[in-house]
Amino acid sequence: MEKSTDNTPEASREPGRDFIREKIVKDIAANKHNGRVATRFPPEPNGYLHIGHAKSICLNFGVANEFGGKCNLRFDDTNPAKESPEFVESIKRDVRWLGFDWENREFYASDYFEKLFNFALELIEKGLAYVDSQSAEQIRQNRGTLTEPGVDSPYRNRSVEENRDLFFRMRAGEFEDGAHILRAKIDMAAPNMLMRDPALYRIRRVHHHRTGDKWCIYPMYDFTHCLSDSIEGITHSLCTLEFEINRELYDWVLDRVSAPSRPEQTEFARLNLTYTVLSKRKLIELVERGFVDGWDDPRMPTLSGIRRKGYPPEAIRDFCERIGIAKRDSTVDFALLEHCVREALNATAPRVMAVLNPLKVIIENYPQNSSEELDCPFFSDDPSKGSRKVPFSRELYIEQEDFMEDPPKKFFRLAPGREVRLRYAYFIRCEKVVKDPKTGQISHLVCTYDPATKGGDAPDNRKVKATLHWVSAEHALPVTARLYDSLFSDPNPADKEKFADFTSCINENSLVTLQNCKAEPFLAGTKPGDTVQFERLGYFCADLADCRPGNIVFNRTATLRDTWAKLQKKI
Ligand code: ATP
Ligand code: MG
Repeated sequence: MEKSTDNTPEASREPGRDFIREKIVKDIAANKHNGRVATRFPPEPNGYLHIGHAKSICLNFGVANEFGGKCNLRFDDTNPAKESPEFVESIKRDVRWLGFDWENREFYASDYFEKLFNFALELIEKGLAYVDSQSAEQIRQNRGTLTEPGVDSPYRNRSVEENRDLFFRMRAGEFEDGAHILRAKIDMAAPNMLMRDPALYRIRRVHHHRTGDKWCIYPMYDFTHCLSDSIEGITHSLCTLEFEINRELYDWVLDRVSAPSRPEQTEFARLNLTYTVLSKRKLIELVERGFVDGWDDPRMPTLSGIRRKGYPPEAIRDFCERIGIAKRDSTVDFALLEHCVREALNATAPRVMAVLNPLKVIIENYPQNSSEELDCPFFSDDPSKGSRKVPFSRELYIEQEDFMEDPPKKFFRLAPGREVRLRYAYFIRCEKVVKDPKTGQISHLVCTYDPATKGGDAPDNRKVKATLHWVSAEHALPVTARLYDSLFSDPNPADKEKFADFTSCINENSLVTLQNCKAEPFLAGTKPGDTVQFERLGYFCADLADCRPGNIVFNRTATLRDTWAKLQKKI
């Protein structure tokens, strides 16, 4: 598949317009499916949902909403060995969180097992399916290759009666796992390898999380998926491009059984993101090999991970809208996702102050044992959105990197003899640098403040070149900050030519935990999931798992540097 980085400026795309919606408009006009639109989101409950699934969710639910149709949530749970109720619950939580509602239309392919069995019988009766008793190895060998046709199974011409009998006995548990399989009788020379008598049912003694031990034969995905769509009256079965090759089989099955309705499959390009892996197999590996702290680790592209990182659901929906739906695979710049997150949070996250790496400042001309409260707006551009009191006192913390003893030319922040503004407070001047005599490290700065500059402006209009954030030491709230960076150091971790194992480009510094941060006391009431902007530092979200009163933990959602917006300006 042709790959490209999709930098299409959003303005050049008409929102809500893509080849799928265009097709649906035509279908409705032609009264296809009686003018109905029914879609489904069909996850297999074998892992947590990721941002790629969000694209599919937004498309399926979005299309149904736009065209007055319905979208089902259907679990394609045909592979019990890898599935679990934990995954089912997480998927429901994530779809709801994204803002979509399947009402009472929660379905499971396993609920259709009896019907599927009967459809399989129908194929047998029509001479279109047979029980094959070759070993798995023989079946593999006889499949042929892309350039050579396969070889017919010696069991291919079993009578309908014999096939029926064997299939019932498979169901009854008379045979060992792998002793027989049910196959469609199509064409062992078909150019599409999937059409060379594909398996429909296999014997597997595995406990199913919903049907228990009722079944010891399970239907294959290709057989189940199209018929589940048909049972539910799905009209537009939307799936990703890797299923294009399965469409022939999808149609073959539907056209040969008495399917209650005739859905149509249309494929679209899956989402790929730079610096990210979006294959469930790889995500499982990251969790199981301990590269992350679980499915909801904020470095994971799972919906539970990005929720914990502080990405709001409206940002994800906005992102899915902007990337659009195309027929060609491409890779989207992770910066676009972050851009959408910043846009959403810019409007909603209150600005507050916290210092990540504190440096003590003593204001020597400020009265001892005294403090004052400054009224600071949550949004400086719109004071009507509220404010809070921020204490100011003689001892403060500023950010270590906002001071340099010997500053280079372009450093405009605090330095010996230099004056800067403290946000919403006063001008201060650095008078003295005090060091620990043993280590030679700076222990604190001695500064003076100008009481006439209260609020941050000098009456004589003298200028300063920097405004720093700060926190009063006496009133400071201790907080922990987790600074996240991308989990991979390469834009394409799944590039097999570059990396034999995708984990070899794991970014060693993807998480930096700072345990000695200081925040303004207003944040003492922070609840898990609260999102703020720490002035000058970025957006932060109180951790959903670990933040509680007395242990305030913030995850950095995004820095304030918008690389996507910069890129767009250059274009
Ligand atoms: P993966 O390929 O990541 O292992 P999957 O396709 O096996 O995922 P399913 O649970 O079967 O996972 O996916 C449910 C639906 O989500 C499918 O219709 C699938 O096409 C779609 N989907 C999965 N990954 C993406 C993606 N990266 N972009 C868009 N849609 C996706
Ligand atoms: Mg897949």
